[in-house]
Amino acid sequence: MSDKLTVKCPTCHKIVIWQESSPYRPFCSKRCRLIDLGEWAGEEKRISSQRNISEIDDWSEISDDHDIKK
Ligand SMILES: [Zn+2]
Repeated sequence: MSDKLTVKCPTCHKIVIWQESSPYRPFCSKRCRLIDLGEWAGEEKRISSQRNISEIDDWSEISDDHDIKK
């Protein structure tokens, strides 16, 4: 018998071992924790903002440009 405590990730229901190497327990990963907290979309926006930080002022023009190319 294993004495390891396991929990199911609330987001994806994957088995997560409750131990120091699972810092996001009861979630299997940072991503699942963020999804559960409803912050995943927010993080995506932050990453996008950092990538396009010099383009923010022209954002509406860029969007229009994309539509034209489609
Ligand atoms: Zn998960």
